[in-house]
Amino acid sequence: MAKVLCVLYPDPIAGYPPQYARDDIPAIEVYPNGQKTPTPSTVDFRPGELLGCVSGELGLRKFLEERGHTLIVTSDKEGVGSVFERELPDTDIVISQPFWPAYLTAERIAKAPKLKLAITAGIGSDHVDLDAAIAKDITVAEVTFSNSISVSEHVVMMILALVRNYIPSYQWVIKGGWNIADCVERSYDLEGMTVGSAGAGRIGTAVLRRLKPFDVKLHYTDRYKLPVAIEQELGLTFHEDLGSMLSVCDVVTINMPLHAETKHLFNDALIAKMKRGAYLVNTARGNICDRDAVVRALETGRLAGYAGDVWYPQPAPPDHPWRSMPHHGMTPHMSGTSLSAQARYAAGTREILECWLDRKPIRDEYLIVASGKLAGTGAHSYSAKT
Ligand code: NDP
Repeated sequence: MAKVLCVLYPDPIAGYPPQYARDDIPAIEVYPNGQKTPTPSTVDFRPGELLGCVSGELGLRKFLEERGHTLIVTSDKEGVGSVFERELPDTDIVISQPFWPAYLTAERIAKAPKLKLAITAGIGSDHVDLDAAIAKDITVAEVTFSNSISVSEHVVMMILALVRNYIPSYQWVIKGGWNIADCVERSYDLEGMTVGSAGAGRIGTAVLRRLKPFDVKLHYTDRYKLPVAIEQELGLTFHEDLGSMLSVCDVVTINMPLHAETKHLFNDALIAKMKRGAYLVNTARGNICDRDAVVRALETGRLAGYAGDVWYPQPAPPDHPWRSMPHHGMTPHMSGTSLSAQARYAAGTREILECWLDRKPIRDEYLIVASGKLAGTGAHSYSAKT
């Protein structure tokens, strides 16, 4: 019987919600690329419930306990005295979410000899040391596509919020003011601007597609060129070199994974290639940007605004400079964990568990590491350090 250790973010401060703002969420059966949404045998939750916090338990308890497995759910994940570190040594399966990541470092993996499966309930398994997972033959899987559209909607929201100066204007309302000039002294139209996506996979392409009706000029860079049909449909300009794209963009959205090649990629030197007054939106991973270089760029006016929902570490400490830097539109890491997204990634986590426990193959598109090497989606999108 397996011991499953699941790390989720804490419940709302007012407690687990007795009711929700809406009674239903749309049923999505197929993602834009034709991939089917998760197909577990059944689920023990109502789509639209809060599943990603401790009391939500990703809706897994009944399923696992009925089969005789043990489920431990905690949000206490940092330090040697944490529940996570205490429970890890005899754990078979770890489940974690990028929003509240249980960092599976090489040191922690070395302390978990029974660990065979690490599931990311969501997308982005950079909180797992993939080289250590490869060395110890731990399978790493994530619920590919489950929240890609959720994130792309957040990106579009953040671009508009920055360019139109929404957040300071909203704050004038709260303060009781009617300060139109203060609101508009940094407010522009997005129309006609050049918007570039650094990375054009599931999220990047969805962002570009959503921005097309705004009559902007769309650019992208990626390791591989998109099919000509998509380039033509969206009117895209491809740049082999990131620097060349940055020099022409008014708005840049980062949509690439964090791996050895992309860590601290947006440093002083790269940001210096951007147009003065450009906006940068990063919902990919905090560590793709050099933290202090972003602060400097906002303070000097090199960047007109920065927004995103990803930080390092997570949760960000109260004195993280991105909380207080000028002209930012940051949120906690929430774009990929809307109630709509949770229903999909909770179902996908269950699908992966059902496959694993019944010794059936896990969908290739969910795999990051398997049989001691990068596999499936991981082989395409990540690069191992070694
Ligand atoms: P995809 O794998 O579909 O797309 C990522 C793209 O980035 C791929 O096309 C990949 O290229 C490209 N890429 C990788 N490395 C580089 C590089 N060095 N230079 C240029 N392009 C590169 O991933 P998604 O779109 O689904 O997600 C992107 C990231 O967003 C995730 O890795 C995750 O970190 C983050 N994310 C954030 C969420 C949130 O809640 N904020 C939720 C979900 C994801 P190719 O594959 O062609 O090699």
